[in-house]
Amino acid sequence: MVKRMIVKIDEEKCTGCGKCVAPCAEGAIQIINGKAKVVSEELCDGMGFCLGICPEGAISIEERHTIEFNREKAEAQPKKEDISIHCFSCGAGENTHYLLPLKHKMQSLWVCTRCLPKLIHG
Ligand code: SF4
Ligand SMILES: [Zn+2]
Repeated sequence: MVKRMIVKIDEEKCTGCGKCVAPCAEGAIQIINGKAKVVSEELCDGMGFCLGICPEGAISIEERHTIEFNREKAEAQPKKEDISIHCFSCGAGENTHYLLPLKHKMQSLWVCTRCLPKLIHG
């Protein structure tokens, strides 16, 4: 066991929408009985890429005692494209564009780096 940063999911707030599953490159999150769960703590590196995409603010990062992050196992997880992840503006997917999570008017969206400057500069 080590003390390190790791994802914490608030079950009270989680609606089980599943939006946080695909953004986790390590496959550490799954929906079980209608709630998001960190299924394998050794796969969660605590980077928190899933935080921004949760519409309910149910995900946070905390420091706690847990199993050490297993980089080798995390990198070996099968990677698959999720077609639900695409730029809200132009529709580009993750296979062809770099996508970033975005919050706007209580919505969790994705934006590609090509469309982001238009949002910044108007
Ligand atoms: S994105 Fe948030 S509300 Fe949706 S399943 Fe994940 S933790 Fe739950
Ligand atoms: Zn775009």
